[in-house]
Amino acid sequence: MTQEARQTPRTTDNAGIPVESDEHSLTVSPDGPILLQDHYLLEKMAHFNRERIPERVVHAKGAGAYGVFRVTNDVSQFTRADLFQPGRTTAMLARFSTVAGEQGSPDTWRDPRGFALKFYTDHGNYDLVGNNTPIFFVRDPSKFQDFIRSQKRRPDNGLRDHDMQWDFWTLSPESAHMVTWLMGDRGIPKSYRHMNGYGSHSYLWVNAGGEKFWVKYHVKTDQGIDFLTQADADRIAGEDPDYHRRDLYESIARGEAPTWTLHVQVMPFEDAPTYRFNPFDLTKVWPHGDYPLIEVGRMTLNENPEDYFVHIEQAAFEPSNLVPGIGPSPDKMLLGRLFSYPDTHRYRIGPNYTQLPPNRPRSPVASYAKDGPMRFEAAAVARPYAPNSYGGPAADTAGFGEPAGWATAGEMVRAAYSLHSEDDDWGQPGTLVREVLDDAARDRLVSNVSGHLLDGVSGPVLERAVQYWRAVDKGVGDRIAAAVAVG
Ligand code: NDP
Repeated sequence: MTQEARQTPRTTDNAGIPVESDEHSLTVSPDGPILLQDHYLLEKMAHFNRERIPERVVHAKGAGAYGVFRVTNDVSQFTRADLFQPGRTTAMLARFSTVAGEQGSPDTWRDPRGFALKFYTDHGNYDLVGNNTPIFFVRDPSKFQDFIRSQKRRPDNGLRDHDMQWDFWTLSPESAHMVTWLMGDRGIPKSYRHMNGYGSHSYLWVNAGGEKFWVKYHVKTDQGIDFLTQADADRIAGEDPDYHRRDLYESIARGEAPTWTLHVQVMPFEDAPTYRFNPFDLTKVWPHGDYPLIEVGRMTLNENPEDYFVHIEQAAFEPSNLVPGIGPSPDKMLLGRLFSYPDTHRYRIGPNYTQLPPNRPRSPVASYAKDGPMRFEAAAVARPYAPNSYGGPAADTAGFGEPAGWATAGEMVRAAYSLHSEDDDWGQPGTLVREVLDDAARDRLVSNVSGHLLDGVSGPVLERAVQYWRAVDKGVGDRIAAAVAVG
């Protein structure tokens, strides 16, 4: 029968050779031994054994979609970044995720959510790799691994352990703002569509005239913020562990493309040294009253990936992908992440991960990189070194030679950030509890924290947890003390 006359495509092996059977291995008589020359069987078994790549060490469970970003306002006075110029439209990819759970873990566990965006700009890929929180648990990258290990599994019994989590948090008071946030309503979003994203770090913007500004990104959901109660989240974790992944996929498939509006807070460059909070401390926000939100544009997620593994599992976001007009800030966590993200991609999906469909830039690549495992695109240059006299690419120093940076000097030290006038670890979480949450949200906060503590936290760690909450807010701390029966 010709291929055209068949109802379904013909099965082939991975080399395109038609196979003899979808069901039967090659044997000596129906009941006899399997033959080694059954190449198709060997290929099926061997490929299957290699179907998994290492899961991400954090943010393993996620969902994502392609979309488009449209600029709706003129922020050219603050940045020359091509993608943020008036009228610009840029294709993009978004991936949302939980943090501590593994690939198969429930979407509705209480956890921050990753909020990673990749913009395919005319000047290469711009990645904004944030969370659904404007802040984080620690402010120095040397504590990140310790923090994550306290959230993951114990070496002895392989179990997650609330005692371990609270031990780390209560010995790290800089975590208080983020823990307050996490234990509040936003710690379990109703869906990925119903949460905000934040760049979290401060970044540097540079305009066409070379003027510099510090910025923070706020990606606000147009679906409205919504959350799950602990009881609903626990129920859904059993009924549908993939609840958030399903919701995103199905809403886009229905034609209900979710949208978010990107805003920035802009701080004049020279404000930073004297601002009341250290503006580069990842455990702090810049209060809106000090630096109001300025609209930039809108992102719409309207295209589901055709293959989850190819486009989402292999997607590689890295805060080091900063395009001209955007630079890092002195935020130590950001500077650490500039190394750790591309490094983990090289380990997880190989050094040529930028050739894979979700990561491949849509602007021309003229890099001197060559070779390495799984490289399938020819080198962009015939002579792989610079400078060369055979027409190889040359850096456009006149156009792009100005690094987006800042002046710095000083002794080498291992020290905490310098404190600005209102810096402490308890003030901003206290404001969140007292001035942002209403009575019902405060009640849920007390209930969420108490429930978490009563699930495996005891002795000195429990006592410290109560003191921690009294430092955030005396009233909330007293109520938690009563609920967990600590004086
Ligand atoms: P504002 O009153 O201007 O802003 C408070 C913000 O809190 C809201 O805009 C909203 O952020 C956010 N929020 C509302 N409910 C919750 C919740 N249950 N959990 C977490 N965040 C919530 O005050 P300030 O800017 O002076 O900030 C006061 C406190 O608000 C901060 O200490 C911080 O804890 C929190 N906050 C501040 C943000 C900022 O960038 N300034 C951002 C988010 C929280 P949104 O508009 O982003 O939805």
